[in-house]
Amino acid sequence: MTAVPAIVATGLVKRFKAGRAQVAVLKGVDFEARHGDVTMVMGPSGSGKSTLVAALSGLLKPDAGQVTALGQNLWSRSAEELDRFRLAHCGFIFQGFNLFPALTALEQVAVILRHTGLSARDARARAEAALDDVGLTPRLHQRPAELSGGEKQRVAIARAMAKAPDLVFADEPTSALDGESGQVVAYLLQRAAKDRGAAVVCVTHDPRLEDYADRIIRLEDGRIREDRRIGPAPVLVRHPRAARSGA
Ligand code: ADP
Ligand code: MG
Repeated sequence: MTAVPAIVATGLVKRFKAGRAQVAVLKGVDFEARHGDVTMVMGPSGSGKSTLVAALSGLLKPDAGQVTALGQNLWSRSAEELDRFRLAHCGFIFQGFNLFPALTALEQVAVILRHTGLSARDARARAEAALDDVGLTPRLHQRPAELSGGEKQRVAIARAMAKAPDLVFADEPTSALDGESGQVVAYLLQRAAKDRGAAVVCVTHDPRLEDYADRIIRLEDGRIREDRRIGPAPVLVRHPRAARSGA
């Protein structure tokens, strides 16, 4: 069996205005990510990594090119449909954690689950399980100010993973962390791919995370310069909705 790609992007072009000129940041990128793979996107600062992830995840419309995610043509959809798609299928983890200062760890995760339509009781139970998964049961009732950087990122991971997303996007998730916390984060991303068959796309500068990659893509000046598979190709084929039944 061959794995069905989770994301297929072709001919992505994105330009930004720089003064009166237009600068191309993505210059015709073809990209594909598979269920069960951790795909690391590496490359120098300014090479277009964050722009690529934003285009792949429905956050930033490219000027040209197509993105098919879970079989759907993303950029032919309305803004509302894109919002719904992201809520149902995408988990995001960013460098800055993006936690609400006033909420406890449990509340940060439960709030998102409530948005997906779960009852308060189910959201709480699922949030507790997701936080337990990242080893944060002793920190359920603490707020971000009372958590270390590594713990904050684990809350952000629990929040992203609690809804069992098919697609996980991480943009430099370890760059604010010490080495050991960074390895834990990479391990948790890897588990999302291996245990649940999520397609994980992770932008990183950190060469130590290469150990967790199945594939490394190197972006330079808006183009893919290298696409190297490290692990064996995934045999796991998972219907995109499989994890969602009963949710
Ligand atoms: P990377 O994540 O690889 O560091 P980015 O994708 O963030 O690179 O950015 C690539 C280039 O595009 C940079 O030169 C950046 O300044 C520029 N850029 C990114 N976003 C915008 C924007 N919203 N407006 C103008 N220029 C932008
Ligand atoms: Mg970036």
